Amino acid sequence: MTETISGEGKLRIGESVLDVGFTVPIGKYSPLSMLPDVQRFADQITNYAESKVKARGLKISCSKGCGACCRQMAPVTPSEAQHLAALVEKMPPDKSLQVRERFATAQAIMSATGLQPYGHPDEDKAAYRKYGLAYFKNGVACPFLEDESCSIHADRPLVCREYLVTSPPAGCAVLGSGQVRKVSVPIQVWAAFGRSSTLDRKLKWMPLIESLAYTEAHPAPEQERTGPQHVEAFLREIQGMADRGEEN
Ligand code: SF4
Repeated sequence: MTETISGEGKLRIGESVLDVGFTVPIGKYSPLSMLPDVQRFADQITNYAESKVKARGLKISCSKGCGACCRQMAPVTPSEAQHLAALVEKMPPDKSLQVRERFATAQAIMSATGLQPYGHPDEDKAAYRKYGLAYFKNGVACPFLEDESCSIHADRPLVCREYLVTSPPAGCAVLGSGQVRKVSVPIQVWAAFGRSSTLDRKLKWMPLIESLAYTEAHPAPEQERTGPQHVEAFLREIQGMADRGEEN
């Protein structure tokens, strides 16, 4: 049995204090094992942002059945790609095949644009935006979108947890509508996890539609840091973001 260690702390954001907790293996392990705690943390950050919005008398307009934002490019970290690939692997055979076909369709559409899907948004913001725009223009539906709802809600990527709007849903469906009022989150957890969990590798993110291909090419999760080292790197990244005021 893997020996684990748990730690708790407080994160101050403005006048609020969030409880943060991690349970990780003591030895070396893949950052994938940290994902459940990071997902919980992302939900805490989103709840915090939502409470701020509600305190101003505004209402979140996102609801089940609106998949407008699920035709925008969703960047995922390598660990999340591995997690999504494992989910597809565990689905019943018919379902798994259907989802794999959707991945292939989405990849074929984007591959026809000739744009490079991998990169690092910090290092090449222009390429990141160009790919995202082409993705949106092509109306590429997320392979997990079903009946305009997320079919993997509990396991959805960090970036999906951070996207909330107070504007009418129609605004999210039109490129450059100028009508999207996105809820600002104090910390971009997906970016913090991408930066902190990938050591010196160039690849910090990829479009969700590349998750299966990436995992096939990189089946073994990296095990280069101990649990406490992963948590330390993540918390350092979060602190840096908070200090730099990197809201989104
Ligand atoms: S994972 Fe779910 S929430 Fe995220 S883009 Fe896909 S369908 Fe939408």
